[in-house]
This record gives sequence, structure tokens and C-alpha cells, in this order.
Amino acid sequence: MRYYLDYNASAPILKEVKDCLISTLDIVGNPSSIHHAGRKAKKVIEKSREQISSFIKTEKNNIIFTSGATEANNLVTRNFDKIISSDIEHESIINSSNISKVMVTSEGYIDLNHLEHIVRNIKTKNTTLISIMFANNETGILQPLEEIAKIAKKYKVLLHSDAVQAVGRVDVNFNNLGCDFLTLSSHKIGGPKGAGALVVKNKSCLKGFLLGGSQEYNLRAGTEALLAIAGFGAAANSNSLEQMKDMVKIRDNFETELLKENKEIVIIGQNSKRLPNTFMFSIPGISSNNILIALDIEGFEVSTGSACSSGKIEPSKTLKAMGLSQNILNSSVRVSLGPYNSYSQARIFAKAVKKIKERFLKY
Ligand code: PMP
Repeated sequence: MRYYLDYNASAPILKEVKDCLISTLDIVGNPSSIHHAGRKAKKVIEKSREQISSFIKTEKNNIIFTSGATEANNLVTRNFDKIISSDIEHESIINSSNISKVMVTSEGYIDLNHLEHIVRNIKTKNTTLISIMFANNETGILQPLEEIAKIAKKYKVLLHSDAVQAVGRVDVNFNNLGCDFLTLSSHKIGGPKGAGALVVKNKSCLKGFLLGGSQEYNLRAGTEALLAIAGFGAAANSNSLEQMKDMVKIRDNFETELLKENKEIVIIGQNSKRLPNTFMFSIPGISSNNILIALDIEGFEVSTGSACSSGKIEPSKTLKAMGLSQNILNSSVRVSLGPYNSYSQARIFAKAVKKIKERFLKY
């Protein structure tokens, strides 16, 4: 029996998305062609744009399709000379040049005083971007975006948020957020891999970085990935926050069962505001990779930190930024749940962890 507990890395394709992909397969036109087949393809793109815009409550022409969140993050950051961000962001943000890093509190939040201090002292405010994620991919901790938006507004600095892990799990209302840019990814919400979007309030402050055609309001050259974009729209259309009410109960049950069977386990940021589907835990004394591999043998698919970094044997940069001890950093794994997970799995999981722990720590 396999148990998939890695929805933050990628979610299974939804049934509605599969149906949409199958029907889109027969569309041959290039969305830029003006003949009938081209217009048919264009209609698919525009339908998806509509679905995504209503999903995040904004206007349709604010959505710029990209190949994924990595590209959307690059599209926005490359338009600014200076980025203010932090060590808990995705690599596509952290690796920007000329970045100033805001400290992170032990609860996993951006330190708002430090953020304000950095922003206040920036001389080139009009070419600076603040980029703070909506929810952290490793711990699930939700950032205080409302407060961050107030600081951005006060100092007239534009604000971007990578909302990849938040959409579909908590309410994301672009027009009310106070953000100028938002990043989305299709495959985290049950759509196909290979599509994402940058949501943009004012397109005139951006330039695309790919040379080519004038697709996507001149901001993303290249023939649109029709299938992936169609599926992305269908996924947005099929997502509902309703199922998150159960999700949080199931996640809490995973944590309760785990702590009941294993007293020494530490749940990271358990008292912080978190996504309803995510938790990170540590078994001090066993390395993250050993936990991950042992769980895989038991049938459980989890992750050490972010998927993009798994494979690399590195302690979590998020936990490091939170100032947690080396002992915790080196022994933590992430569990991220989705609609196929259940209460009964929580019990089986806790027992599997106990078995692994006893084997490694030889109680
Ligand atoms: N941002 C965050 C917070 C992520 O978790 C990920 C995926 N690990 C990305 C960006 C990159 O997304 P994509 O795979 O669509 O490029």
C-alpha cells in the first residue's frame, strides 16, 4: 500500500482536469493564428484565464501565463534592481541578485520590524521589490501579508508574494491583498505540470525577459502551452476551500497520533498560523534522509524540505532561518496532505514512525 503525503511537492491531477486535457488534445491551432483553429485554441487560453482570475478574485487580464511558478518568480524579480526577501523563500527568489534578507522569528514569521527597517533605509524605493511568500512550502507557516502590505504601501515599494502553496488551501483574494504581484503554480492545485501564472496589478511596470512574440500581453514570448494552461484553469475551477475544513482536522489528527506514539517528536511551528494540510516534524537523533527513506519503505511518501531541494542532503533552510537547533534541522521531514488522505492513515503513519524510531534509536 502506498500513501502519498507530499502534496506540497505536487498534487495528483484532478478528474475534471483529466477530462479537460483529453478534450483539449484535439485542438490543433496555435492561439496566435487568426483562422478558426487558432481562435479555438485562443478561446481555451482565455477560458483558463477567466477560471484562474475568478479563483483568486481578480480581473481576467491580470493573469500572465508562464511555464510555472519558477518562471513567474523570475519574471517579476528580473524587473527590479533590488529584492527584499528572506531565507525561507523558494530558490527562484532567494537566488536573485542584489537581495537583502529579512530575519525570520522563531515562530517562522517574517520579522516585521526588521522588514520595516530595511525598507525605510532603501534609497532606490522605485526599483525595489519586496517578495515574501504567502505560505511556506516546508512548515506551512502563513506570513503576515496584511502587515507586510502596510509597510510596502507606507514606503511606496511594490510587493510580490509567492502564493503557490496557499491557493486552494486558504482564501486568496488578489484584489484585497495589497500585493502588486502574485505567483501561482498549476501542479500544486491538481493541474498539470508546466503551467503557472504571475498575477499583475499594473502590467506597465514589467517587461518580459524572453525574446520572441507578443504573447501574454507582451510579457511572456512563446506559443502558449495550451494543454497545461487548459488544465490549470480546470484545476482552479474545481478547487474548493470546503474540503479544507476536514483537511485541518485530519492534519491535526496526524499530529496527535504521532505525539501519542512518540513523545520526543517535535512539531515545527505547531502554534503558528499554518496551512491546513501541512506539518513538519523532527525526530532528534535520526537524519531527515533516513526518516524519509525508512518511511518510503513503509509506503509513505514524504519530503525533506522543498521538493526542489530534495535529493540534495542539506538541512532545511527554513528551519535554519527560524534559528532551530542543528539537532532539529537535521532530523525533520515534511508531511503535506491532500484529499486522498484520511484519519485511518494518521494511525498507521504514527505506528510506522514509531517502528522506524525504535529501529534507529534502538530503544
Ligand atoms: N514557489 C514555491 C513556494 C514552491 O513550493 C515551488 C515548488 N516547489 C515553486 C515556487 C516552484 O514551482 P514550479 O514547480 O511551478 O516552478
